Amino acid sequence: MEKELLRSEKLKVAGEMSAGFAHEIRNPLTTIKGFIKLFDEQDGKMNPKYYKLVMDEIDRVTKIVNELLNIANPNVCEEKTKVNIDRMLENILTLYEGHMNRHHIKSETFLHGSLPDIEADSNKLKQVFINLIQNGIEAMPDGGQMNIHTKLGHSENSEKVIVIRIEDTGEGMDKDTMDKLGTPFFTTKETGTGLGLTTSFRVIEEMTGTIKVSSTQEKGTVFTISIPVHGPSEETQNKH
Ligand code: ADP
Ligand code: MG
Repeated sequence: MEKELLRSEKLKVAGEMSAGFAHEIRNPLTTIKGFIKLFDEQDGKMNPKYYKLVMDEIDRVTKIVNELLNIANPNVCEEKTKVNIDRMLENILTLYEGHMNRHHIKSETFLHGSLPDIEADSNKLKQVFINLIQNGIEAMPDGGQMNIHTKLGHSENSEKVIVIRIEDTGEGMDKDTMDKLGTPFFTTKETGTGLGLTTSFRVIEEMTGTIKVSSTQEKGTVFTISIPVHGPSEETQNKH
Protein backbone atom coordinates (compact mmCIF):
# COMPACT_ATOMS: atom_id res chain seq x y z
CA MET A 1 0.00 0.00 0.00
CA GLU A 2 1.44 3.36 -0.97
CA LYS A 3 0.34 6.88 -0.44
CA GLU A 4 1.54 10.39 -1.19
CA LEU A 5 1.43 12.15 2.14
CA LEU A 6 1.94 15.78 1.42
CA ARG A 7 -1.61 17.00 1.11
CA SER A 8 -1.63 20.48 2.44
CA GLU A 9 -5.34 20.36 3.22
CA LYS A 10 -4.43 17.94 5.99
CA LEU A 11 -2.22 20.51 7.60
CA LYS A 12 -3.78 23.84 6.98
CA VAL A 13 -7.22 23.66 8.54
CA ALA A 14 -6.67 26.07 11.36
CA GLY A 15 -10.13 25.62 12.88
CA GLU A 16 -9.80 21.87 13.05
CA MET A 17 -6.40 22.29 14.60
CA SER A 18 -7.57 24.60 17.34
CA ALA A 19 -10.54 22.39 18.15
CA GLY A 20 -8.22 19.41 18.46
CA PHE A 21 -5.76 21.45 20.45
CA ALA A 22 -8.42 22.55 22.93
CA HIS A 23 -9.70 19.01 23.32
CA GLU A 24 -6.28 17.43 23.79
CA ILE A 25 -5.24 19.99 26.38
CA ARG A 26 -8.55 19.98 28.22
CA ASN A 27 -8.53 16.24 28.88
CA PRO A 28 -5.28 16.07 30.85
CA LEU A 29 -6.15 19.33 32.60
CA THR A 30 -9.47 17.87 33.79
CA THR A 31 -7.65 14.83 35.14
CA ILE A 32 -5.05 16.99 36.87
CA LYS A 33 -7.73 19.17 38.44
CA GLY A 34 -9.63 16.10 39.66
CA PHE A 35 -6.61 14.67 41.43
CA ILE A 36 -5.51 17.99 42.88
CA LYS A 37 -9.00 18.35 44.36
CA LEU A 38 -8.61 14.94 45.94
CA PHE A 39 -5.31 16.07 47.41
CA ASP A 40 -7.11 18.96 49.10
CA GLU A 41 -9.90 16.73 50.44
CA GLN A 42 -7.39 14.30 51.96
CA ASP A 43 -5.63 16.88 54.12
CA GLY A 44 -2.82 17.51 51.74
CA LYS A 45 -1.81 13.85 51.36
CA MET A 46 -1.61 12.26 47.99
CA ASN A 47 -1.38 8.61 47.12
CA PRO A 48 1.92 8.19 45.19
CA LYS A 49 -0.04 6.39 42.47
CA TYR A 50 -2.13 9.52 41.86
CA TYR A 51 0.92 11.71 42.10
CA LYS A 52 2.47 9.78 39.21
CA LEU A 53 -0.74 10.08 37.20
CA VAL A 54 -0.80 13.82 37.68
CA MET A 55 2.86 14.16 36.69
CA ASP A 56 2.26 12.02 33.59
CA GLU A 57 -0.65 14.19 32.58
CA ILE A 58 1.41 17.34 33.06
CA ASP A 59 4.15 15.79 30.90
CA ARG A 60 1.55 15.05 28.29
CA VAL A 61 0.30 18.64 28.17
CA THR A 62 3.90 19.85 27.95
CA LYS A 63 4.63 17.44 25.10
CA ILE A 64 1.54 18.57 23.18
CA VAL A 65 2.32 22.25 23.70
CA ASN A 66 5.93 21.75 22.60
CA GLU A 67 4.91 19.95 19.44
CA LEU A 68 2.27 22.57 18.69
CA LEU A 69 4.91 25.26 19.04
CA ASN A 70 6.95 23.37 16.47
CA ILE A 71 4.01 23.43 14.09
CA ALA A 72 3.18 27.05 14.71
CA ASN A 73 6.79 28.17 14.33
CA PRO A 74 6.53 30.48 11.32
CA ASN A 75 8.99 30.53 8.44
CA VAL A 76 10.44 33.86 9.50
CA CYS A 77 11.98 32.24 12.56
CA GLU A 78 13.85 29.75 10.44
CA GLU A 79 17.54 29.62 11.09
CA LYS A 80 19.12 28.13 8.05
CA THR A 81 22.56 26.60 8.13
CA LYS A 82 24.48 24.17 5.96
CA VAL A 83 23.36 20.66 6.77
CA ASN A 84 24.91 17.38 5.77
CA ILE A 85 22.10 14.85 5.93
CA ASP A 86 24.37 11.80 6.17
CA ARG A 87 26.16 13.27 9.16
CA MET A 88 22.89 14.33 10.76
CA LEU A 89 21.48 10.80 10.47
CA GLU A 90 24.68 9.26 11.85
CA ASN A 91 24.51 11.60 14.84
CA ILE A 92 20.89 10.75 15.53
CA LEU A 93 21.59 7.03 15.33
CA THR A 94 24.48 7.39 17.76
CA LEU A 95 22.06 9.14 20.08
CA TYR A 96 19.61 6.24 19.80
CA GLU A 97 22.17 3.40 19.91
CA GLY A 98 21.66 2.48 23.56
CA HIS A 99 17.90 2.77 23.33
CA MET A 100 17.78 0.52 20.27
CA ASN A 101 20.09 -2.06 21.86
CA ARG A 102 17.81 -2.26 24.86
CA HIS A 103 14.87 -2.86 22.53
CA HIS A 104 16.74 -5.50 20.51
CA ILE A 105 16.69 -3.33 17.42
CA LYS A 106 19.56 -3.57 14.99
CA SER A 107 20.27 -0.65 12.76
CA GLU A 108 22.16 -0.47 9.53
CA THR A 109 22.97 2.54 7.38
CA PHE A 110 23.47 2.67 3.64
CA LEU A 111 24.57 6.26 3.28
CA HIS A 112 25.61 7.98 0.07
CA GLY A 113 28.76 9.26 1.78
CA SER A 114 29.35 12.45 -0.18
CA LEU A 115 25.98 14.18 -0.31
CA PRO A 116 26.04 17.90 -1.03
CA ASP A 117 25.19 20.09 1.97
CA ILE A 118 21.76 21.67 1.91
CA GLU A 119 20.57 24.93 3.45
CA ALA A 120 18.04 24.06 6.11
CA ASP A 121 16.79 24.73 9.59
CA SER A 122 18.83 21.97 11.14
CA ASN A 123 16.81 21.72 14.37
CA LYS A 124 13.56 21.23 12.49
CA LEU A 125 15.01 18.75 10.03
CA LYS A 126 16.65 16.78 12.82
CA GLN A 127 13.28 16.62 14.57
CA VAL A 128 11.72 15.12 11.42
CA PHE A 129 14.26 12.30 11.31
CA ILE A 130 13.95 11.77 15.06
CA ASN A 131 10.15 11.54 14.75
CA LEU A 132 10.37 8.93 12.00
CA ILE A 133 13.08 6.90 13.72
CA GLN A 134 11.21 7.08 17.02
CA ASN A 135 8.02 5.85 15.31
CA GLY A 136 10.00 2.99 13.77
CA ILE A 137 11.36 2.00 17.17
CA GLU A 138 7.89 2.17 18.70
CA ALA A 139 6.57 -0.07 15.91
CA MET A 140 9.07 -2.80 16.94
CA PRO A 141 8.29 -3.55 20.60
CA ASP A 142 9.77 -7.04 20.23
CA GLY A 143 12.87 -5.93 18.38
CA GLY A 144 13.64 -5.76 14.69
CA GLN A 145 15.71 -4.01 12.12
CA MET A 146 15.96 -0.35 11.18
CA ASN A 147 17.63 0.52 7.88
CA ILE A 148 18.47 4.01 6.75
CA HIS A 149 19.44 4.78 3.16
CA THR A 150 20.42 8.02 1.49
CA LYS A 151 21.04 8.70 -2.18
CA LEU A 152 20.92 11.44 -4.77
CA GLY A 153 18.07 11.44 -7.25
CA HIS A 154 15.72 13.58 -9.27
CA SER A 155 12.20 14.70 -8.47
CA GLU A 156 9.29 14.52 -10.94
CA ASN A 157 10.17 17.99 -12.16
CA SER A 158 13.84 17.04 -12.62
CA GLU A 159 15.07 18.83 -9.55
CA LYS A 160 18.12 17.34 -7.89
CA VAL A 161 16.97 15.80 -4.62
CA ILE A 162 18.38 13.92 -1.67
CA VAL A 163 16.33 10.80 -1.03
CA ILE A 164 16.23 9.40 2.50
CA ARG A 165 14.61 6.06 3.25
CA ILE A 166 13.82 4.99 6.79
CA GLU A 167 12.70 1.36 7.01
CA ASP A 168 11.53 -0.67 9.95
CA THR A 169 10.45 -4.27 10.29
CA GLY A 170 7.71 -3.36 12.74
CA GLU A 171 4.00 -3.94 12.96
CA GLY A 172 3.12 -1.87 9.89
CA MET A 173 -0.19 -0.09 9.39
CA ASP A 174 -3.67 -0.92 8.18
CA LYS A 175 -5.47 1.17 5.57
CA ASP A 176 -7.41 3.20 8.11
CA THR A 177 -4.20 4.25 9.88
CA MET A 178 -2.52 5.07 6.56
CA ASP A 179 -5.48 7.27 5.57
CA LYS A 180 -5.26 9.22 8.80
CA LEU A 181 -1.49 9.74 8.80
CA GLY A 182 -0.57 13.37 9.26
CA THR A 183 -3.93 14.33 10.71
CA PRO A 184 -3.24 16.40 13.82
CA PHE A 185 -3.65 14.34 17.03
CA PHE A 186 -4.17 11.05 15.23
CA THR A 187 -2.42 8.38 17.29
CA THR A 188 -2.85 4.66 17.91
CA LYS A 189 -0.57 4.80 20.96
CA GLU A 190 -1.61 5.12 24.57
CA THR A 191 0.91 7.86 25.26
CA GLY A 192 1.15 9.27 21.74
CA THR A 193 0.46 12.89 20.84
CA GLY A 194 -0.32 12.26 17.18
CA LEU A 195 1.68 15.35 16.29
CA GLY A 196 5.02 13.87 15.23
CA LEU A 197 4.00 13.23 11.64
CA THR A 198 1.92 16.41 11.35
CA THR A 199 5.01 18.40 12.31
CA SER A 200 7.27 16.36 10.06
CA PHE A 201 5.04 16.73 6.99
CA ARG A 202 4.85 20.44 7.60
CA VAL A 203 8.64 20.83 7.83
CA ILE A 204 9.27 18.81 4.67
CA GLU A 205 6.54 20.72 2.85
CA GLU A 206 8.21 24.00 3.85
CA MET A 207 11.40 22.67 2.29
CA THR A 208 9.39 21.86 -0.89
CA GLY A 209 10.17 18.20 -0.38
CA THR A 210 7.90 15.17 -0.34
CA ILE A 211 7.23 12.27 2.03
CA LYS A 212 5.83 8.93 0.92
CA VAL A 213 4.99 5.93 2.98
CA SER A 214 4.64 2.30 2.11
CA SER A 215 3.56 -0.17 4.76
CA THR A 216 2.56 -3.79 5.14
CA GLN A 217 0.97 -5.09 8.31
CA GLU A 218 3.21 -7.44 10.32
CA LYS A 219 6.05 -6.71 7.88
CA GLY A 220 7.04 -3.10 8.33
CA THR A 221 7.04 0.41 7.07
CA VAL A 222 9.17 2.52 4.76
CA PHE A 223 9.14 6.30 4.82
CA THR A 224 10.77 7.93 1.79
CA ILE A 225 11.63 11.60 2.00
CA SER A 226 12.90 13.67 -0.92
CA ILE A 227 14.45 17.04 -0.26
CA PRO A 228 15.55 19.37 -3.06
CA VAL A 229 19.29 20.05 -2.90
CA HIS A 230 18.55 23.66 -3.78
CA GLY A 231 15.82 24.77 -1.40
CA PRO A 232 12.84 27.00 -2.19
CA SER A 233 14.57 30.34 -1.63
CA GLU A 234 17.38 29.64 -4.06
CA GLU A 235 14.88 28.39 -6.63
CA THR A 236 12.91 31.62 -6.36
CA GLN A 237 16.10 33.64 -6.71
CA ASN A 238 17.05 31.72 -9.86
CA LYS A 239 13.75 32.61 -11.48
CA HIS A 240 14.38 36.35 -11.16
P1 ADP B 1 2.49 9.31 17.74
O1 ADP B 1 3.83 8.66 17.51
O2 ADP B 1 2.49 10.26 18.90
O3 ADP B 1 1.36 8.32 17.79
P2 ADP B 1 2.82 10.26 15.05
O4 ADP B 1 2.25 11.43 14.33
O5 ADP B 1 4.30 10.17 15.14
O6 ADP B 1 2.17 10.26 16.48
O7 ADP B 1 2.27 8.93 14.39
C1 ADP B 1 0.87 8.75 14.22
C2 ADP B 1 0.50 7.29 14.09
O8 ADP B 1 1.00 6.77 12.85
C3 ADP B 1 1.08 6.38 15.15
O9 ADP B 1 0.30 6.38 16.32
C4 ADP B 1 1.07 5.03 14.44
O10 ADP B 1 -0.20 4.43 14.48
C5 ADP B 1 1.33 5.41 12.99
N1 ADP B 1 2.74 5.21 12.60
C6 ADP B 1 3.63 6.18 12.34
N2 ADP B 1 4.83 5.66 12.00
C7 ADP B 1 4.69 4.31 12.03
C8 ADP B 1 5.57 3.20 11.78
N3 ADP B 1 6.84 3.37 11.43
N4 ADP B 1 5.06 1.95 11.91
C9 ADP B 1 3.77 1.75 12.28
N5 ADP B 1 2.90 2.75 12.53
C10 ADP B 1 3.34 4.02 12.42
MG1 MG C 1 5.54 9.62 16.81
